[in-house]
Amino acid sequence: MTLAGAQIRQSFIDFFVERGHTIVPSAPLVPGGDATLLFTNAGMVQFKDVFLGTDNRPYTRAVNSQKCMRVSGKHNDLDEVGRDNTHHTFFEMLGNWSFGDYYKQEALAWYWELLTEVWKLPKDRLWATYFKDELNSIPDDNEAKETWLAQPGFNPDHLIGYGRKDNFWEMAETGPCGPCSEVHYDFGPEACRLKDDPNHICHVNAGCGRWTELGNNVFIQYNRLSADMLVPLPQKHVDTGMGLERIVSVIQGVNGNYETDLLSPLLDCVQELAGQSDHDRANNLTPYRVIADHVRAASFLISDGVIPGNIGRNYVCRMIIRRAARFARKLNLIEPFMAKVAEVVVENYGEAYPELRRNRNTILETITREEKRFSETLDSATAQLNLILDDDDVKSKGIINGEAAFELYATLGMPLEITRDIARESNINVDEEGFKNALEQHRIASGAGKAFGEMLKTDPEVYQSIFRDLVDAGKLSKDGVFYDPYSRISVNGPVLALIKEGQPVVKVYPKDKVEILLPETCFYIESGGQVSDTGLIISDDEGKWKIKVMDVFKPAAGVIVHIGEVIEGSPEIGEIAKAEVDAPRRIDIMRNHTATHLLHAELHKVLGDHARQAGSLVAPDRLRFDFNHPKPISKTELLKIEKLVNKAILSNYELNIVIKPLQQAINEGAMALFGEKYGATVRTITIGKDEDLSYELCGGTHVDETGDIGLFLITYEGSIAAGVRRIEAVTGFRAYEIARQRMNTLDQVAQSLTCAAHEVTDKVDTLLNHQNELQKEIKILRGQLAKDNFADVLQNPLTVMGISVIATSLPNADVDTLRSLTDMFKQKFDSGVVVLGSVLDEKPLFVAAITPDLIKLGLHAGQLIKAVATEVDGSGGGKPEMAQAGGKNPKKMSEALDKVIPYIKANLKQV
Ligand SMILES: [Zn+2]
Ligand SMILES: [Zn+2]
Repeated sequence: MTLAGAQIRQSFIDFFVERGHTIVPSAPLVPGGDATLLFTNAGMVQFKDVFLGTDNRPYTRAVNSQKCMRVSGKHNDLDEVGRDNTHHTFFEMLGNWSFGDYYKQEALAWYWELLTEVWKLPKDRLWATYFKDELNSIPDDNEAKETWLAQPGFNPDHLIGYGRKDNFWEMAETGPCGPCSEVHYDFGPEACRLKDDPNHICHVNAGCGRWTELGNNVFIQYNRLSADMLVPLPQKHVDTGMGLERIVSVIQGVNGNYETDLLSPLLDCVQELAGQSDHDRANNLTPYRVIADHVRAASFLISDGVIPGNIGRNYVCRMIIRRAARFARKLNLIEPFMAKVAEVVVENYGEAYPELRRNRNTILETITREEKRFSETLDSATAQLNLILDDDDVKSKGIINGEAAFELYATLGMPLEITRDIARESNINVDEEGFKNALEQHRIASGAGKAFGEMLKTDPEVYQSIFRDLVDAGKLSKDGVFYDPYSRISVNGPVLALIKEGQPVVKVYPKDKVEILLPETCFYIESGGQVSDTGLIISDDEGKWKIKVMDVFKPAAGVIVHIGEVIEGSPEIGEIAKAEVDAPRRIDIMRNHTATHLLHAELHKVLGDHARQAGSLVAPDRLRFDFNHPKPISKTELLKIEKLVNKAILSNYELNIVIKPLQQAINEGAMALFGEKYGATVRTITIGKDEDLSYELCGGTHVDETGDIGLFLITYEGSIAAGVRRIEAVTGFRAYEIARQRMNTLDQVAQSLTCAAHEVTDKVDTLLNHQNELQKEIKILRGQLAKDNFADVLQNPLTVMGISVIATSLPNADVDTLRSLTDMFKQKFDSGVVVLGSVLDEKPLFVAAITPDLIKLGLHAGQLIKAVATEVDGSGGGKPEMAQAGGKNPKKMSEALDKVIPYIKANLKQV
């Protein structure tokens, strides 16, 4: 019986657990505390700091199955996905690690045992590689070589040495590195795609399809200081990686990853939805694979808090859902269907990755929403693109320009990747550089370009050398500056280092901007949305000097600096200082932080479990909370949330803060936040008698009891991106101040209205009604007044070329009044022209009327009114017998009316 994919994953973990390894759960796809990486792309990402020596773990052997995404940067497999049977955007990587514990002999022997004894792969199909330096300057890895040769049943002819490109691993240009050793599986000579090519030499790494790499053991034993300088590391590490999909395909003996039981159920689901035969499926494998891969990736991304959007990770999530939707059209799948495929993902993977089950509804809803949104524009985007592809210029040059591709994205939501897919089907490329430029310009124009704040100018090397010197001198422990913002708000200690303009100095002077390092600190460093503390560092020698602290941060392992300005005296290294947090500000921050936890909990209660945190700011004067929710929050819901938070405050619950193992907290249902990095042990904050009210992992500072928060008021609710809402709120004194201000305003209004505060709304309604009545009356009176005035004017018309003409202005008449006055004119004169102007609300307006007999003779009210309106910077028009116009400049009223007679003279034909 063949092993199922899930069993193979589990047997890998069990195998290493039996050999003393700790199971470390997969890190989220969003790497914690690493802004340089878009997605976790290998098992070692969460252990990078151990290899760099900046952190350590309570265990020395670890094993896991890591969720990985490779869709950007150096590892970008997106283009290949679907075209063959092996590439993915999302995949799982099985890994085992030794941190300064076992080394090559154990690692390779275990790999051999696992592959041949546990998974029963035939020994004569396995090949191994080891490092053999082609430049002869780094020692060959003879230890790996000897270890392979010692394995029972290993064929010595199946061991090959390769050089730096294939068998030497480096994290970056400098830093940890070392030789590696791969295991390859041989499918036999018949699998060679180039067997008919007389020039082909068939061997491992020849890229002919005969061999596939099963796994890699990296032995981290050197630190690279420069291009030609390697020094041995005191602690040697093992880092391994094995693609789960690939090993499963080999063990299950199927033709590629998409035929394993990990992925074939997803393809089956697509087939059923498309109603296709097995034959159709075999002829359409590309869309099947793309949909399976992309829906699986999107499901994992969404369960890790990444929702579709326009930049970075969110863009990737959007792009893969849209790309799958576009490939679905090739199978005539038009209606939203991906949630059905995602259900299979949750079903298939939920046991190994419980976060999929926990977020099932959010995954299904988010995918469907994005699918629907795109289906609204997909057809017009495709039609538009086909027009571009049909253009002769594009055809002859073979390339679509970047602005056109950007336009498709900006107006119709067509991601570049899809434009590229479609264009390639007609053998046309897209100018991706041009696309990026257009995108960049658009971002700058929309003000989104300035994403990064002012960077600190000090070189990281300065901090590292200060740190080394202080540790060597015994002034600082190896663990670095002791950080405890929880138990006190003031500490004493000697000034260990001062940095001014990026350079270490021994003394600083008034008005200097400085970074100051003490052996310990009680200042909170911005994290988890909570802002840094501010405060003072003063000389312990009463009043000798004083530094105002504006910020605190951790620029390097072990180093914490306070950033501030000298406001008095001249601090010197070695002097005893007292660091004091600005206490009232900190207490306001703590109120807002605990209130944020309560708000998060009540949002779940009122809106549902999908309302997860997407961003947060905890400042002294307010809190801001962003969360996933697809639609606006009703006033009733908002008031309910606010009321529940206040209820929890008044219940005066004690906060229970406990440090415990990460896995225990997750199993207990603690809310973890994405993009946060958690160690093996975590700080947990529980609020409420039962753990149901709020249970979060959090490194922030909090009040002792919820009653300390005081009043909680929501001041804003709105949308910040598709599917993401924002709530802003205030607590404590700030809430009191806002409430007091509003009450004062209400009191003032009541006083002006001479009524009680609770009567204000009724009174205002009455006043507004009354005002409406008055306005109607004014209108009638004005009309009457204008008519009276006009009656006099009607007695004395001008005579121009034998016809009666009135061109005059009347005060405060609206358009309706002017029109009715022109009727009066027409009743009195059988033949004539009338143009009436008025200024209402400081804007000139005109109405013109001409009797029908004169229209036959060449006059036109519309043309006449245009000539008039031009004088007052206005415009207008209308029919030959009646027209109206408005303008901007009331001062030119009489000049405008002066245009009437010349118009008549120029246009009226004599009979
Ligand atoms: Zn070959
Ligand atoms: Zn928190």
